[in-house]
Amino acid sequence: MTHDFDLFIIGAGSGGVRAARVAAQHGASVAVAEEYRVGGTCVIRGCVPKKMLVYAAHFAEDLHDAVGFGWDITGKVFDWSRLRDLVQKDVTRLEGLYTQTLEHNHATIFAERATLAGPNRVRLASGQEVSAKHILIATGARPAIPDIPGAELGITSNEIFHLDKLPQRAVIVGAGYIANEFAGILHAFGVQVMLVTRGDRMLRGYDCELVDRLVHISRDKGLDMRFNFPLKGIARGDDECLIVDGGAQGRFSTDLVLFATGRVPNTQGLDLAEVDVALDKAGAVVVDDYSQSSVPGIYAIGDVTNRVQLTPVAIREGHAFADTVFGGMPRTVDYTHIPSAVFANPPLAGVGLTEEEARIAHGEAVHVYRSDFRPMRNVVAGRHERGLYKMITAGPEETVIGMHLIGPDSAEILQVAAVAVKAGLSKTAFDDTVALHPSMAEELVLLK
Ligand code: NDP
Repeated sequence: MTHDFDLFIIGAGSGGVRAARVAAQHGASVAVAEEYRVGGTCVIRGCVPKKMLVYAAHFAEDLHDAVGFGWDITGKVFDWSRLRDLVQKDVTRLEGLYTQTLEHNHATIFAERATLAGPNRVRLASGQEVSAKHILIATGARPAIPDIPGAELGITSNEIFHLDKLPQRAVIVGAGYIANEFAGILHAFGVQVMLVTRGDRMLRGYDCELVDRLVHISRDKGLDMRFNFPLKGIARGDDECLIVDGGAQGRFSTDLVLFATGRVPNTQGLDLAEVDVALDKAGAVVVDDYSQSSVPGIYAIGDVTNRVQLTPVAIREGHAFADTVFGGMPRTVDYTHIPSAVFANPPLAGVGLTEEEARIAHGEAVHVYRSDFRPMRNVVAGRHERGLYKMITAGPEETVIGMHLIGPDSAEILQVAAVAVKAGLSKTAFDDTVALHPSMAEELVLLK
């Protein structure tokens, strides 16, 4: 049976575009439907513009610290609208590059929504139907919004990049990646930030000691972080301000509420039920190790499968899918030792088991090495923030099973250290490596 395309991809995010390119290079005819902008969450309203804001935010402290290094900084002014527009300009440039990748690989792009019309059929918003031998669902995820009165008065990470002006005060709901990253960004831009979370912990999955360090440093900087905060609702107050009802914790007046309360897989309204594609309780597409759904020929990758919600993972899943289905090279993705970072201020990064996880998994065989230090540049700048590096080893060989860093540039340093953890190196391999002096990274080879 002949089809219009070998592969139809719904969603042109990082995973979808990678799958399109690799499938095309294996000789497949490819079509991609995208209802919003080519590039997906990471490029358009996630990692990339967020990182640009993180860089911009850093200048607040850098300019302050510069005085300690002999600079005279007078007349510094921050202009949000200029930054916002510059960031959006670069996002548009990147969108163009992603589009070019598709075009250079002769993918047909449908700039409209697509839904499933059958096991091998896709229905476009225009009404057109096309057939494909294989369909890949790469629709990502969207921000989850708590079901509370007045939730419509809050915004999400989708809207934060486009604010007309910065608020004077902001309440950030949640205590995960997005909450902590935007708490750091907004605070640096001079916004009075209150971060509220329902539980007694933040950044679940990260080493508790590092997270405690982040809370301590953040509070020192003047961020108001509140735990066990029972968010009851939001209402409009006088003068356009918003009133956040925190039950027993009180009512707080603010100018902006940012929900950073997780992301839900984008499976709604795709008519997946029509073709019996199985979803899990969270609404994610259930897939096997090769990213195939419960329906042969229909695959899913990235956040829509809710495996690991990280761009590099979606890219690997897209690549492995295309190699498997079109390249005759069955490949799965290795989900062990995935490094990750929170670009808070300061950033923290980790790979492998946290101390808590290691003690549960390996008990007495665990050894924890720590370096709690004040980076040289902080000393000169008169800044009291300390970095903390932890190496977790297990067994008589002292195999490194976890590495966790908080401090300046920790994401940059951890990426390299993650190679060693992935390779299963022991602490001896670190000890045998001569220190690169003076650097913060040398702490990793000097751990006692
Ligand atoms: P996270 O999963 O990191 O954190 C969600 C937070 O929201 C938690 O503090 C959680 O609390 C809280 N929460 C969840 N539901 C509710 C609710 N109904 N009411 C109140 N609080 C709630 O999600 P984010 O939104 O920060 O980020 C989404 C995903 O995007 C991340 O998981 C990550 O994979 C990805 N991302 C990665 C980045 C990076 O790599 N640097 C940056 C940004 C996003 P509790 O802990 O109590 O459940």
